[in-house]
Amino acid sequence: MSFQNLQLNSEMLRAVKRVGYSEPTPIQVRAIPHILEGRDIVGCAQTGSGKTAAFALPIVQMLKSARGKRRIRVLVLAPTRELAAQIDEEFGKFSRESALRHTAIFGGVGQQPQVKALQHGVDIVVATPGRLQDLMNQGYIRLDQLEYFILDEADRMLDMGFINDVKRIIKRLPKARQTMLFSATMPQTIQDLSRSILTDPVKVEANPQSTTVESIEQSIYFVEGGDKRALLKHILRDPASKRVLVFTRTKHRANNLAKQLSRARIPAEAIHGNKSQTARTRALARFKSGHTPVLVATDIAARGLDISDVTHVINFDLPNIAESYVHRIGRTARAGASGIAYSFCDVDERKYLREIEALIQKPIEVVSEHPYASAIAAPKRQNGVSKPRHNGASKPPHQNRRRRPRRNRQARPA
Ligand code: AMP
Repeated sequence: MSFQNLQLNSEMLRAVKRVGYSEPTPIQVRAIPHILEGRDIVGCAQTGSGKTAAFALPIVQMLKSARGKRRIRVLVLAPTRELAAQIDEEFGKFSRESALRHTAIFGGVGQQPQVKALQHGVDIVVATPGRLQDLMNQGYIRLDQLEYFILDEADRMLDMGFINDVKRIIKRLPKARQTMLFSATMPQTIQDLSRSILTDPVKVEANPQSTTVESIEQSIYFVEGGDKRALLKHILRDPASKRVLVFTRTKHRANNLAKQLSRARIPAEAIHGNKSQTARTRALARFKSGHTPVLVATDIAARGLDISDVTHVINFDLPNIAESYVHRIGRTARAGASGIAYSFCDVDERKYLREIEALIQKPIEVVSEHPYASAIAAPKRQNGVSKPRHNGASKPPHQNRRRRPRRNRQARPA
């Protein structure tokens, strides 16, 4: 399937070429023709599937073919500032040849530049719910002429407690509009919301969770909590660890870990919700440019971040929600590339590991030999079958992989 088969016009095909996309992703193949026909869409797709271009390309094409007085015609709601900024950037890539104007609206920064952009006149607004409502209430944003509404990462809106804000915003939108809802998972509340805001939607699904996971080499390291830091440094000293996204459970742990790594001469920065927007943008830019090879993040901060060429995702802490594992490791192996995901698991995290393996429907391979292998967590070691190596630097730990036999899985302590 090529972009030529999707009813995109020559300008959009040029844009796709300029951006460097050679062929459409499954969600683009499935969604673009329906969006161009004017249908509402419910898209079950996660970040990394190419869903942003799946709606941005047809929308830019449709906006261009019906110009009039400038007014806000498209509203995209996104749960995080970073995601809003990225979606806005993607619109920028595709609307470069057009006179369309787009802007991102989010909190954590002064509102004045955003107000100025709005007063200048924009066609496309990409916003987080809080700042959007602030500016609507101050009279800077009018949405009565809106034609297209996109609710992105609806499940994350729910997790982050934004769902009522989202509903309040939707109540203020014109009823006659084209609506697209994207969500990685479809909990009941999101299904109910879809029914109430979409008209006869086409359901498009891409990236059932296991397909994203398949191209990623996943391993688990059993390690005691107190040894996680040393194990991480050991892995990061492997020259293959060029651009590494590390996940921790809390902001506090992200901060501490980034500081400790930097002290050990492994340049690292933390990105989480307590950092100012400027600090987050700067950290992200330095990571993207390769200046800082290690970015330590919490789930919320990393959600939706468009970071390409991540060589490794390391779950320093396993997530307590199994779906988050899939989202996290989806940061590597984007758009067809392969990637590596390591997860550290201490004895208290075994229950999370079981849930993750149930979700992805396969066991994750265990790295049986590494310098910090946990005696409690790795029963096989006690039989002398495998020994911890202390000269780990000579061979990267991921080369010591074995498929875990089934009986070994059952032998894990609870
Ligand atoms: P998204 O799921 O929208 O966050 O997109 C994930 C990443 O894939 C982004 O870096 C996009 O720029 C990139 N991308 C989107 N569509 C394509 C495509 N057809 N070919 C290659 N990369 C793409």
